[in-house]
Amino acid sequence: MKELSTDEIKMGLDILRELGVVEIVFSGGSPLLREDIDEILEYASQYFVTTVYDNGSLALEKIDALRNVDFVAISLDSLNPKINDYIKGVKGSWEKAMEAIETLHKEGINVCVSPTISQLNLYEIVDYTKYFLAKKIPVLYCLYSYDVPVESEQLFNIGRKNDEFEIVDKEAMVKLCDDLIQLKKNNSGMLITTKILEAVKQLFLDGKRIWKCRALTNFFMIDHLGRVAGCHVRSPVTTIFELPRMWDSPEFDRLRSIYRECKGCTYLCYIFYSIHSGVIGNFEIVRENWKNAKILLSS
Ligand code: SF4
Repeated sequence: MKELSTDEIKMGLDILRELGVVEIVFSGGSPLLREDIDEILEYASQYFVTTVYDNGSLALEKIDALRNVDFVAISLDSLNPKINDYIKGVKGSWEKAMEAIETLHKEGINVCVSPTISQLNLYEIVDYTKYFLAKKIPVLYCLYSYDVPVESEQLFNIGRKNDEFEIVDKEAMVKLCDDLIQLKKNNSGMLITTKILEAVKQLFLDGKRIWKCRALTNFFMIDHLGRVAGCHVRSPVTTIFELPRMWDSPEFDRLRSIYRECKGCTYLCYIFYSIHSGVIGNFEIVRENWKNAKILLSS
C-alpha cells in the first residue's frame, strides 16, 4: 500500500460523508507536511467540522490552508519556555508555537492551544488556562497517556511510556479537575465538558472508568494509507474504501463488543468521543457552549 493520493483522499471524504461522519481531526506526525493539504482541508471543511493539529512548526508556512478549518490546535505544554522545550525535546519550540498562536489569532483563524497534561505541567494548567482565556484563545486539553499494545499489530504508535510524564500526584490531578470544573462555570473557551472532567477525576480517584470505550462506534482512525482501525492502538480492520460494506457487518459488531470492554488507554480524545455520543451527547456539549458542537448540530 502507498500513501493515499489527493483524489483518493477526496473519495474517502465522500465515503465518510455518506456514512454520516460529522467531525474529522487531522493529526500526525504533521498533516501540514502534505503538499496538497490546502486542497484537502478546503474540501473537508465544506462538509465536516475540521480540527488540525500542529506543534507550531508549520502553521505559519501553511496559514492559507488553515483559514477554513474550525480549529487549528497548536500544541503547547507550558507557559514557561524552558519547561515547554524540555517536554517537547526541541529547543525553540515554545517561541515557534507562541508566534504561530498569536499570528493565527490576529489573522482571525480559529486557533486554540492544546496542552498535554502530565506530571511536568500539572500544577500550572489552571494558570495556563486563565492566561489564554484572557486572550480569548480556547484551550483544548490532552492527557498524557501511552500506548499499551493490546494486539500484535497497531495502526500506528504515538505515545511512549515516559515515567517522568506519568501523573503520580493523583491528588493534584483530582484537584485540577475540580478547579477546571469551577473555572468552566464562568468561562467559555475551555474545550472540555464537565462530564469529561468528572470522568477523569474518577479515574484518578480510584482507577474506575465511568465510560465504556466506543471505538469503531463513535470514532475510528484512518491512517495515511487509508487503513481503518477502531483506534490507533488497535489493528487495522478494513480500508476506507471497504468501510461502507463493513460498517454494519457482524465482524464489526464483534470488534465493537471487544473494544467496549477494553481499558487499554486513557487518551482524552477517545474518552471524549466515548462519553459524548449521538444527538444527546451533542446537546450536552452545546449546553456548555462549545462552538464546535453548535456546528455539529447545524450540520
Ligand atoms: S480503550 Fe478504546 S481507544 Fe483505548 S486502546 Fe482500547 S479500544 Fe483503543
